[in-house]
Amino acid sequence: MKLDVNVLRYLSKEDFRVLTAVEMGMRNHQIVPAELIDRIAGLKHGGTYKVLKNLLKHKLVHHDSSKYDGFRLTYLGYDFLAIKALVNRGVFVSVGRQIGVGKESDIFEVATEDGTVLAMKLHRLGRVSFRAVKSKRDYLLHRSSYNWLYLSRLAALKEFAFMEALKAHGFPVPAAVDCNRHCVIMSLVQGYPLVQVKQLQNPETVFETIIGLVVRLAEKGLIHCDFNEFNIMIEDDEKVTLIDFPQMVSVSHRNAQMYFDRDVECIFKFFRKRFNLSFHVDQDESGESEFDESGRPRFFAIVKSTDSLDKELAASGFTTKDQDVIEEFIEGGIEQDSENSGDEEIVAEGCLPAEIDDTVVYNLNSLHLHGCAVRHDVNDEMQEKQYSNEVSHSN
Ligand code: ADP
Ligand code: MG
Repeated sequence: MKLDVNVLRYLSKEDFRVLTAVEMGMRNHQIVPAELIDRIAGLKHGGTYKVLKNLLKHKLVHHDSSKYDGFRLTYLGYDFLAIKALVNRGVFVSVGRQIGVGKESDIFEVATEDGTVLAMKLHRLGRVSFRAVKSKRDYLLHRSSYNWLYLSRLAALKEFAFMEALKAHGFPVPAAVDCNRHCVIMSLVQGYPLVQVKQLQNPETVFETIIGLVVRLAEKGLIHCDFNEFNIMIEDDEKVTLIDFPQMVSVSHRNAQMYFDRDVECIFKFFRKRFNLSFHVDQDESGESEFDESGRPRFFAIVKSTDSLDKELAASGFTTKDQDVIEEFIEGGIEQDSENSGDEEIVAEGCLPAEIDDTVVYNLNSLHLHGCAVRHDVNDEMQEKQYSNEVSHSN
């Protein structure tokens, strides 16, 4: 996806005001009626409509007149809102090249005023098709929070909270700098994903460090759940950094052992294939070792004495309810992957599947999006108040 931040420079205060109004309207509308946008933005003399044209030209909103005249944010529009908020807070001053494209994110370099380069991760939950999910209507209807804006924001909040907590406990993860909407700013890792590393001076040491990390995470009550050669960064001195946390779960999750074993297996398989490592561990006499004879850590021996990070994470603003929502979404995605491998369809700009009944989406979203407490700028809060007033007037 192209992120032409030059456009940012040409956008006026009014442009952002109207873009924010569209975002607010999306809390309870899939497509926000133009007149509601106009009411929220409160520009004089039909100014909103002129601005909407400009936003449309820059692909920051999408126009839909199939049911009524309305607009929704595009990913780009949402990106701009987050970037603008972070630039206003002085977190960075410019956006550079794209350094990563994940299934559910885009990563860019950004630079601070003093020239420090950081990484910006824009979450894109809901970018991949929900074909399988769509066929399970039941699932969708009960998952009231199905909305890419909300999910991407939740993923960013979770990633930020976990990164901070993991860092505080001495895990080698990027430093969490800031978070706004679906965007996380973190320190840049000066290395490459393990998948791109063809040679290591000390593959055994790197392997042991990595397996040690899975074990230490489980001792802290956590499982990464996507622990593989794409989410482990290696620097020139073979230092290991762990990235990508939105899918992490607690060791008390019902499928915890399966996730743990799968993480371990990915690493074993990769090191066997790429670095030709073979594994064996001598058992101690008690037979209660944390590792089995093949060298794989035993889940139950490790989680016996967990020192859980849950409390800290709850204090960070990422609640158990948020965790449930995101887990349900991600597990749905996992099911979908196995059913539809090779048959993915990208939903343009993350819109909701067309077949979903509008009224259902409307009702469910209005219930749940209002209820979710995700970080806001003070500015957002003020506008939110204004928005609630607007809504109560219009009712
Ligand atoms: P996804 O959830 O989409 O897999 P990741 O967090 O794994 O996103 O990031 C995708 C890619 O972006 C990584 O494989 C890595 O190459 C790059 N990347 C992510 N975070 C950083 C970072 N902090 N520093 C350097 N590169 C990064
Ligand atoms: Mg990744």
